[in-house]
Amino acid sequence: MFLIFNGDSFFALRFFFRTEFMPKRIVSNSDFVHLHCHSEYSSFDGLNKISQFPKYAKELGFKALALTDHGNIGGAIKFIQECNNCGITPICGCEFYLSKDRHINFTEKKDGQKTIKGQVDGRKGNRHLVLLAKDWEGWQNLCSLSQASWVEGMYVDPRIDFELLHKHKKGLLCGSACLSSVVNANLLHDRYNEARKAASLLKDIFEDNFYLEVMYHGIDAEAAIIPDIIKLGTDLNIPICATNDAHYLKQEHGSSHEILMSMSTSRCLHDPKRLHFPHHEFYLKSVPEMAKIFGSHPEFLTNTVMIAEKVDGKDIINNMTSGMRLPRYSTPKDFATPYDYLEHLAWKGMKDCGWINSQPHVDRLKTELADVKVAWENNKYDFATYFLIVRDYIQEAKDRNILTGCGRGSGYSSVLLRVLGISYGPDPLKYDLIWERFLGFDSRVFVEAKDFGLDKESLEEKLVIESEEERDVVEDPGGVDRY
Ligand SMILES: [Zn+2]
Ligand SMILES: [Zn+2]
Repeated sequence: MFLIFNGDSFFALRFFFRTEFMPKRIVSNSDFVHLHCHSEYSSFDGLNKISQFPKYAKELGFKALALTDHGNIGGAIKFIQECNNCGITPICGCEFYLSKDRHINFTEKKDGQKTIKGQVDGRKGNRHLVLLAKDWEGWQNLCSLSQASWVEGMYVDPRIDFELLHKHKKGLLCGSACLSSVVNANLLHDRYNEARKAASLLKDIFEDNFYLEVMYHGIDAEAAIIPDIIKLGTDLNIPICATNDAHYLKQEHGSSHEILMSMSTSRCLHDPKRLHFPHHEFYLKSVPEMAKIFGSHPEFLTNTVMIAEKVDGKDIINNMTSGMRLPRYSTPKDFATPYDYLEHLAWKGMKDCGWINSQPHVDRLKTELADVKVAWENNKYDFATYFLIVRDYIQEAKDRNILTGCGRGSGYSSVLLRVLGISYGPDPLKYDLIWERFLGFDSRVFVEAKDFGLDKESLEEKLVIESEEERDVVEDPGGVDRY
């Protein structure tokens, strides 16, 4: 959140609301969708608990709801689950920090003023930008942008830049965001041409998927720039959407939010210099409340529905819930895929333990490897990556002298897991242990994912998790973006 108070804009505020206050038509519950909301994953700024927030949106009659936390998508999975539970369409997004160059990371001190270099227009402060995933490709791009912002663009905040936006624009919707956006911050300082340039750049990237946000939380600076946003929309043919920067659920939660903001800026509540808002308006407003503000321009409200309808929630959910979501596994350079590497390790393990000379063991390994391949080809279950990751941390545990179990349960039946060094103990073929109990197939269709009962020493388990995390930091944003 970002605020600038400008006394002059009071006149613009009065002008806007005096002349256009009366709604032109009745706005119904299905005429608006919240496209800009923060949850507890906007650290020290969001108070909407994901466990309550979609439920409350449903109570208010909304059919869809967006999540746009500051600089991260950590709450997305939980949000999708909660929205599914209460029957509304989840729209996953993020309010990113946009910089001129994500690689520039130093602070310049000039005339006692600190300026963080690398911002979009070379001025102080971050620029906000809202991105929403339209479909599975958009979700993957959102993940790539989030990863790049944390791994490559981290300086004070995780930052993206225009280069990344060009690279990962597919499947994304883009909103111009709040007063801190590159468009609105320029309008606020009477730089219409610079704002127009920024909006043109974003329109060139996202084409029909770019929209201008208008907000009003009782702050005169927001009202002051609305006429210019309307002008921009007309000049560049960009739709305008009303948003409410929802940081908490109900109006009465505004004072709790003030406490949270005081904590984030290390100021006391009675400190006059603390960051605070003149009105408690950053809550999840109902459609009548939104219509009260923007009913003079009902298209600002209905455009949000048009944007929400572009989102194919099912595509995201189906992809997310089918197959396995695993970190990328870096194979040694001689192996094109994780499966190739797994196969190599398996046959090497067969030689090492002497089973290469036993035809039943050879046949069994061939069957198990074939099933792993079919699970990938038919259902996108990437058991090769899964087994390689488990093999790595078992190896890590062994290197650190941490005890591991021999592979309790159905996993013990596998020759493949044995020769990879994941399980150990008596020969599973000697006791006719059935591989299909571990990987369940029905007419060659994978039925359910299985886990290993490895029984790592509980005290030392943390060490193994740490070693997984160390790897994640390089390979997987999930390891960085952890809550
Ligand atoms: Zn913002
Ligand atoms: Zn926001």
